[in-house]
Amino acid sequence: MTPEDSIGIDLGSIDLVTTSRGEKFANPRHYRTLERQLKREQRKLSRKQPGSNNRRKQRQKVARLNEQIANRRQDVLHKLSRQLIDENQAIFCEDLNVKGMTRGNMGKAGWGELVRQLKYKAQWAGKTCLQIDRFYASSKLCSACDYKYIELARSERSWTCPNCGVEHDRDINAAINIQKEGLKQYVAAGLSETENACGETVRPA
Ligand SMILES: [Zn+2]
Repeated sequence: MTPEDSIGIDLGSIDLVTTSRGEKFANPRHYRTLERQLKREQRKLSRKQPGSNNRRKQRQKVARLNEQIANRRQDVLHKLSRQLIDENQAIFCEDLNVKGMTRGNMGKAGWGELVRQLKYKAQWAGKTCLQIDRFYASSKLCSACDYKYIELARSERSWTCPNCGVEHDRDINAAINIQKEGLKQYVAAGLSETENACGETVRPA
C-alpha cells in the first residue's frame, strides 16, 4: 500500500466530513429541512393540551418525522462509508472517545455509526479502518513542519503556521495529520491488506 491509497478523515461535525485530500462532505440540504420541520412540530406538540386527541395526533407526526430523519441519516452514512472504502485501501480516523463529540446534529452516536460501518465494510473488502488510539493535537499540529500551534482558538477555521508560513484549512490540516499518524501506526503494526486493524485475517474475496 502506498500513502496515496490511504485517507485520513476528520470527524469535525456530522454536517462536514473532511478528508486529507481536501474533500468536504456536507450533509444534503433536504436533511436539514427535515430537522427544521421536526423542531417546529415538536414546539407545536408542547403546546397541545395534555391527554387530548390533538396531542396524540401531533405526537404521531413527530414520531414519523423522527423516523424519516433516522432513515435519511443512515442513508447518508452508508453512501459515505461505501465511497471511502471503495476509494481507499486504508482509512484512518480519530478515536471517538478522544474528542468532544457533542458538536453537530448527530453527536457521538452518529460518528460511532459511521466508524462502525467503516470497520465492517473494510473487513468485508479486505481493507483497513484504523482508529488513532492515542491523543495528539491533530488540529494544532502543522502538517507541513510539525510545529505545534498551541494558540489555535476553537473559532479559527483557518490559520497560518508561524514557523513555516503554510496556510491551513483547520479541518484539512487535521485530516492530513490523522492520515500521517495512521500510516505510522499502520506500518508499526505490520498490517497488510489481508489483515484488519484488529489483527484478524480477512479471507480473500
Ligand atoms: Zn508549519
